[in-house]
Amino acid sequence: MKDDLQLSSEILELLLRSPWRFVCNANRTDQQNFFIFLRFTVLLAYSVYVAWLSDPEVVMLSRLSRCSKTASLTVRQIKAVNLIATQPLSTANGDHQQSSSSSSNIFPATIVFGSVAALLYVLNREDGRFKKSALREFIDAETASLKKKLANKNLPEHVPYVLIGGGTAAYYAALTIRAYKPDSEVLIIASEGETPYNKPPLSKELWLYGNDKTFRTLEYIGVTGKKRDIRYESDGFYLNPGALKEFKHGAVAIIRNTTATDIDPVKKQVTLDTGKKVSYDKLLIATGGKPKIPYPFYIPHMRNKVLTYHNVSDFQRLHYIAHNSKSILIFGNGPVASELAFSLESKFGREKLQIVHAFSEDYPMQHSLPPSVGEQVETALKGAGVVVASKHKPLFIDKLPSGQVEVIFENDGKKKRVIVDHIVVADGITPSVKLAESAGLEIDDTIGGIAADSKLKTSNPDIFVAGDVAAYVDPIQGRVRVEQWENAQITGRLAGQNMTGNFKDFHHPSSFNSLFGHYIHLNGVGRLDSSLETVAVFAPVDKDDPDSAKGVVFYVQDRKVLGVLLVNVFGLGIELSRKIIADQKEIADFVQLAKLFDIYQPPTPEESEAATDTDRQENPEKSRPQEVVPTAESPADSQAKATTTA
Ligand SMILES: Cc1cc2nc3c(=O)[nH]c(=O)nc-3n(C[C@H](O)[C@H](O)[C@H](O)COP(=O)(O)OP(=O)(O)OC[C@H]3O[C@@H](n4cnc5c(N)ncnc54)[C@H](O)[C@@H]3O)c2cc1C
Repeated sequence: MKDDLQLSSEILELLLRSPWRFVCNANRTDQQNFFIFLRFTVLLAYSVYVAWLSDPEVVMLSRLSRCSKTASLTVRQIKAVNLIATQPLSTANGDHQQSSSSSSNIFPATIVFGSVAALLYVLNREDGRFKKSALREFIDAETASLKKKLANKNLPEHVPYVLIGGGTAAYYAALTIRAYKPDSEVLIIASEGETPYNKPPLSKELWLYGNDKTFRTLEYIGVTGKKRDIRYESDGFYLNPGALKEFKHGAVAIIRNTTATDIDPVKKQVTLDTGKKVSYDKLLIATGGKPKIPYPFYIPHMRNKVLTYHNVSDFQRLHYIAHNSKSILIFGNGPVASELAFSLESKFGREKLQIVHAFSEDYPMQHSLPPSVGEQVETALKGAGVVVASKHKPLFIDKLPSGQVEVIFENDGKKKRVIVDHIVVADGITPSVKLAESAGLEIDDTIGGIAADSKLKTSNPDIFVAGDVAAYVDPIQGRVRVEQWENAQITGRLAGQNMTGNFKDFHHPSSFNSLFGHYIHLNGVGRLDSSLETVAVFAPVDKDDPDSAKGVVFYVQDRKVLGVLLVNVFGLGIELSRKIIADQKEIADFVQLAKLFDIYQPPTPEESEAATDTDRQENPEKSRPQEVVPTAESPADSQAKATTTA
């Protein structure tokens, strides 16, 4: 009986999912979608209604088997629906009597069903878009639960390579395992509903270069003019876990909407939230992190007003919120908060949506940028129309009767009140180490994350780590944990390789980039930590093109470079930076070193002097960070000297 009821819920999901899929098909016009949706609903209404009033055993099966062609139902599932349908009408005789009159009731029933469907359709559209409505959320959740049940049903008991976390690190580990061992079977356990995807566009490209359907398609137009999907692979790339054993040459399978809840390192077994267990030979933990919610933003009854920003479903929710709000406060001081503020304001414009970007520090991205570059980011944000509220320490939040949210900040000793429609908190992450802790793996309490050696091996020789959660040994900096996309890619690849027994040490510091439209493009390598001594070398700004500021910032310890930030510098700068960091030479003259990068334009002596003055006024404290603006030199000169320095 219980099993039948479970199946009943499955069939309900299928029935709901199918019409939704029809209307959401981006390849059809809205009109076509609408009529397909209506037709399906009419068919459904007809089948259910007739079955309800007829012989439960015969009519229901025959009617629903028609639907089953579309919704791919099994006879067992059809019987399950039959069960729900017949429960209220338990007097079988009465049902038989009603069956003769059923045809006369078909039309009113169909009209009612059709009208409800049409109404739902209209209510769920706005400005040509679907709202992330309660209905859609319900259907998404039901669909996810169905997928989860199906994938768990046929889960193999043993898979040689099990990867926990369906993000960038797990994806690249899977590819690398298959590259080194082409016949290997790999299983990715992912708690999200999406297959692995690229997160950086969530705060930039999807807003700036997406279209009305982006929230659903997750596509945008890339710099080459071609469509780009943030998912690394289409669904077809991944197998359903049940099919894994059928492939002689192995494959990558994924089980979505499923969280690993426990690791037994002795039995080499992972337990899932469905209660299923899968054993492994080698295990990867690439669980990333969870968004931090600083005080006072974590208040349970305000949950529908405060959104964290970390994954696709946050993007989809914010997409809906942004289209239906007049003001949003974005709190946080990392790149994600600043990029998101810039992207939203650039997309909507302040007349439609006012973005307030608040943080407790003095300037944006203060933890990684020196003041001069932070100020450039602030200028870019203000240029886009963002209200930048620096030095705003949040004290209190509350919901107003109007439905808006009030936030009280402390700013320079005074209380400031900001009222907005919604709040987005993007204030960094806490690495997800719970699983590793429960498995008795070593955790790095200083920098957070799961402790690993330079081969990304944890304190257990069969368990590896990669991505945001990995605290591994870097040859120059010692133990590090890096929250960057390229780090997830590099460590994912390396962990995958090492899991196959082809051991190699970590040696390649990752780079990151951050983008504020055409105003400022940041590329960084190594340790970008503004608590280190920083030396910024900027070419004088071309007064006809004030956005052209080009420069290099060196993050230095004992005159050795640990990190390099390139501001509007492209080309080979990243590779060069890696080499400078790897060399670990004591640098006597950073201006000379900067000449290796393509930052110079020939300015006039007056411009150069003016730039130096401005810089001194802005940065009276010369010791940290030290701002150096070189005097005018021709590019040829700088090139000649740079060669000598190298
Ligand atoms: C909006 C945004 C913009 C960003 N922009 C940039 C950028 O411009 N440049 C840059 O370098 N970096 C950027 N980053 C950071 C970068 O995306 C991350 O460093 C990278 O995604 C980390 O990859 P990961 O695989 O370690 O973790 P994630 O991508 O977070 O993936 C981890 C996955 O594991 C899942 N998971 C967790 N626990 C379990 C469990 N127990 N069972 C199953 N699954 C589990 C999570 O749900 C998640 O899907 C950005 C991040 C965000 C959120």
